[in-house]
Amino acid sequence: MKKITEIDPQTAAQQVLPMLDEISPSMCMAKWLWSSIHLTNGLTNSCFLPPLHKIDPKAVENNPRALHNTPEKKAQRKMMLKGEQPEGCNSCWKVEAQGKQLSDRAYRSSEPWAQQGWEEVIATGSEGDIDPTYLEVNFNHACNLACSYCSPHLSSKWAEDIEQNGPYPTKVPHNSIEYFKSIGHYPIPNREHNPYVEAFWKWWPELYPKLKHFRMTGGEPLMDKNTFRVLDYVLDHPRDDLNISITSNASVPKKNWDRFVDTVSFIDEYKKLESFRLYVSVDGWGEQAEYMRDGLDFELLWNNVNNYLTRTKDGLVTFIVTLNMLSMPSVKKLMQGILELQRIHNVKKTRRDDNGKLTYYGNHRVFVDTPALHYPAWQSLKVLPEEFWHYGDECLEFMKANTDKQRESRWVGFKPHQIKRFERSLDFMKQGFPTEQDKINAQENFVRFFEEYDKRRNLNFHKTFVEFSPYVKRWKKNAILTSS
Ligand code: SF4
Repeated sequence: MKKITEIDPQTAAQQVLPMLDEISPSMCMAKWLWSSIHLTNGLTNSCFLPPLHKIDPKAVENNPRALHNTPEKKAQRKMMLKGEQPEGCNSCWKVEAQGKQLSDRAYRSSEPWAQQGWEEVIATGSEGDIDPTYLEVNFNHACNLACSYCSPHLSSKWAEDIEQNGPYPTKVPHNSIEYFKSIGHYPIPNREHNPYVEAFWKWWPELYPKLKHFRMTGGEPLMDKNTFRVLDYVLDHPRDDLNISITSNASVPKKNWDRFVDTVSFIDEYKKLESFRLYVSVDGWGEQAEYMRDGLDFELLWNNVNNYLTRTKDGLVTFIVTLNMLSMPSVKKLMQGILELQRIHNVKKTRRDDNGKLTYYGNHRVFVDTPALHYPAWQSLKVLPEEFWHYGDECLEFMKANTDKQRESRWVGFKPHQIKRFERSLDFMKQGFPTEQDKINAQENFVRFFEEYDKRRNLNFHKTFVEFSPYVKRWKKNAILTSS
């Protein structure tokens, strides 16, 4: 088979299209080789774009590969092999129909984990079972935080709030547990037997050697024993071609953090993996970041990330900054902090060359990703009044002035794709709501939600976001006038 030789993602994606076309015009390797499995509630999809669907608990009793190879995915694979377009992949078909950009189908299929399994995909066809090479799982929804845009099926702290106080009084009640139960998204309680977690561990010895990327999310994965079971397994079964990552709030109790860093620094020192990456979720700086992610200790997070980067020589960090309206006043400060971490941890040493010029050595270890929050709509960037768009523009200017190409050290600075991603999120913000009424509804829901959030969490929006206070007071007045 012809292999993709390009490392630039866009060129690689262009290269893969004729190879996919040889199989069919709607072929996508992610449908076979990429899997997201929610072990908490028995849902899956491939890739992350199509809607989640249910895994049959009976099917996984004797065949743990049924966690990934569901009848629904097999039906979609069959359609793809015939050149038909399964509906769940509409986001790709829409992009392709516009003909301006490459869809995720091309990007995903050109990535190394997809290339690795190409022959096996052909041999498996639509009826057989296959092990994914890219897998994301969450074992548990236990979490010590209850972030403003999260929900009770993903955070046990949120579940406690809703169990005690009921859903939030937005125009349509928000975060009702009954709703999540009705659509089959509510997790199996920890005290009950979970057939999906049981099947995962049965599958693991067979699955592990095939994986190229394995990511654990949550809840908070550092509060779950299964995460440590995986890391301990790696110690005994090293794989120099496997990349493991976790998504954490980096604000967990000390004993959990210490155990994590002890284990990962050992994995790092004895090169038991190709790479280990810590994804850190944080959406702003200081007190404002703590407000958005209720329960977060920002200083603890920053110290913990420093501690991880110091104790591991090659451990990687990606900050996941989910841009929402409340991120904007402090997002530039966060980027400045990230740049400072790069200065400390990316550059290993310096030396003067024969001409007295300073030369730097190192590797990129600290990254950032800035997706825009889409849901709930009343917390999205679209709610941000136009007068405050300058926060985003100033941050963008700062990133552009500090690329890793412009600086004397190429190990410090933002990469072009990181800047593009931030720009795309700002474009999303500036598109605004489809109608004026959508905007008014979002402003009203914002007021209704955060007044209740302040009461339940003992917080104070108007003190924490002084800059937004007059606007939100006006939104409240408008909402009252409209309803009276
Ligand atoms: S076609 Fe697109 S949406 Fe469907 S699995 Fe592939 S990348 Fe995902």
